[in-house]
Amino acid sequence: MGPKKAEILNKEAEIYSLYDLIQTFPYRYIDRSRFYKIAEISSNNTHIQLRGKIVAFSTKGEGRAKRLIAHFTDGNDTIELVFFKGIPFVLKAYQLNTEYIVFGKPNYFNGVYSFVHPDIEQPSEERTQGFMPLYHTTEKMKNHFLHSKALQKFIFLALKQLPTDVAETLPQSVLNKRKLMPLYDALWQIHFPQNMQLLEQARERLRYEELFYIQVAILRQAGLMRSKQKGHPMPQVGDIFHTFYRDFLPFELTNAQKKVIKEIRADLVRETQMNRLLQGDVGSGKTMVALLTMLMAVGNGFQACLLAPTEILATQHYEGLFKLLKDMPVSIRLLTGSTKKKDRVSLHQSLQDGSLQILVGTHAILEDEVKFANLGLAIIDEQHRFGVAQRAKMWAKNHRPPHVLVMTATPIPRTLAMTVYGDLDVSVIDELPPGRKPIQTYHLFENKRANLHRFVHEQLQQGRQIYVVYPLIKESEKSDLKDLEAGFESMQKIFSEVEVGMVHGKMKPAEKDAEMQRFLSGETRILVATTVIEVGVNVPNASVMIIENAERVGLAQLHQLRGRVGRGADQSYCVLMTKYELSSDTRKRLEIMTETNDGFRIAEADMKLRGPGDLDGTMQSGLPFTLRIANLSNDGVVLQQARVDVQEILQADPMLASPENAILLSQLKYRATDAVNWSLIS
Ligand code: ADP
Ligand code: MG
Repeated sequence: MGPKKAEILNKEAEIYSLYDLIQTFPYRYIDRSRFYKIAEISSNNTHIQLRGKIVAFSTKGEGRAKRLIAHFTDGNDTIELVFFKGIPFVLKAYQLNTEYIVFGKPNYFNGVYSFVHPDIEQPSEERTQGFMPLYHTTEKMKNHFLHSKALQKFIFLALKQLPTDVAETLPQSVLNKRKLMPLYDALWQIHFPQNMQLLEQARERLRYEELFYIQVAILRQAGLMRSKQKGHPMPQVGDIFHTFYRDFLPFELTNAQKKVIKEIRADLVRETQMNRLLQGDVGSGKTMVALLTMLMAVGNGFQACLLAPTEILATQHYEGLFKLLKDMPVSIRLLTGSTKKKDRVSLHQSLQDGSLQILVGTHAILEDEVKFANLGLAIIDEQHRFGVAQRAKMWAKNHRPPHVLVMTATPIPRTLAMTVYGDLDVSVIDELPPGRKPIQTYHLFENKRANLHRFVHEQLQQGRQIYVVYPLIKESEKSDLKDLEAGFESMQKIFSEVEVGMVHGKMKPAEKDAEMQRFLSGETRILVATTVIEVGVNVPNASVMIIENAERVGLAQLHQLRGRVGRGADQSYCVLMTKYELSSDTRKRLEIMTETNDGFRIAEADMKLRGPGDLDGTMQSGLPFTLRIANLSNDGVVLQQARVDVQEILQADPMLASPENAILLSQLKYRATDAVNWSLIS
């Protein structure tokens, strides 16, 4: 290929070598092994080909809905070929009553099949038989004649240069154990499958390989850490824990909370450092688990700290814990950016002489001058707001790093957690405390706004508080801020009987906190906000969450926002406001939201809808390299197999020093980018 095409491939598809080229897998195949009859078409056909003639053209619809219909027959039946764009071109390019081959995916609508924008070709003898691969291309690529067919040709030529004894990229033992197709065959079959079965085997092999190397990258690092990091053994549960549990626990723990505490307990007894991720949906009671864990540390003579991402959250935690501990011989204090100088001095003192046992606070805890006498445990709430570097700082607070418990309300599907967090152990609270009324969620179109206002008036009359959220795509977008301000003004007008507050990310932290405080105290009854309120603020009296432009918000975030209500005894509501025209994906998102409150179901659905290539930035950067063929939401079983196999290999040869494992090291080097490895950090 010429230098211009090569340059386009570099820029547009990151293809720099023949190897990159053959690693560019088709996204779909057309079954060209035979011609289908129109009567045979069924909903499980993927892409198929028909042979026949166009017998007539007609148009339907007006304006943007205008479309051209080519009536196509195979001699027995007819089917409609539909074109929304390029109508003059189609009319010129294709003649009536001439033999054509039509490819595409049948579209089922209102009880009939049609093809929308199918490919149409003149019959020719040199057609590929079997399955024809389709490759993703960009506009730029197409402009330089690098369309799917051209890629197919280049890939074919590249594969022909592949020696039949091309070096394997997986150890022979693994290939045998998992009965995986050899690399040479897999590469041919993934591009030019002879049949569906061989294609499936090729996919299996390549998927496995990708997940295998993700696990090698992660487990190898984690293993190195493990053997190095000694922890602080905490051999006893301790009297403090027992006393609290017996006399001051305000409620019976849920079974899920009990289970998690047992898991943590088992970690603390060991010689090695705990690195545990605690997932629990909003309101599942993570704070009590945090407290009980801290009491175990204190009972073993250690100090403990709890970090929250914002001042208001830290303060809430502190006040709640202080109350719970008021009749216990345990000292607890709060440290935030606004802690007074005088208090700081005495606080530092009591931390260093060991008289202060529990410290609750914000990032302020991470500052170098905050020194502990004997920090044994650090708990981090809502880890998504904490940067990687900040968590690393926590480690340096003692000569031996403290046990670390990271708590998150963002449910992460298990497969993803295993991959992104590597060897971080995962605990899950999968049960809510009893007696919660599930939040009722409704989706309203813009034209029902009057109903919404009536409902809000009612709720205000009952003494409730209301959130109104405007999603921002970027905090910097002026137009978004305008939406928010307009919303604020209209709420003030319509609900003049109450005070309305407003918070957004452009405000100074102190202003923001003051505004949150006004809402918390009930002074403002409606809070108009951007998504800055997403993280765990607890206002039990707020019972309605209205999300404007909900079509612009991802599922995970919708769920997080909804979690701001439903924290008190009253029935709570979430209202998703959208415009009328919605894409089918958006419709699905809204349907899932109205159907379920289960964060894990939502997270799984989210991953399926978005696909693994489009994960939350934090998680994507957690992957050692990008996935080309494996799919974390579907390939959990393969991931688990790969993990077990890699663990076995690393157990026998932790440094991968043996000759048969040399292949692993060279592959790792080839694949690895400088992506952050999370297992090293938490
Ligand atoms: P989150 O997991 O979102 O941090 P919290 O720890 O804030 O949840 O708990 C939410 C509410 O549920 C709090 O008011 C807490 O006191 C209460 N709670 C926690 N565990 C239980 C339980 N086992 N039984 C009853 N209420 C509980
Ligand atoms: Mg919480």
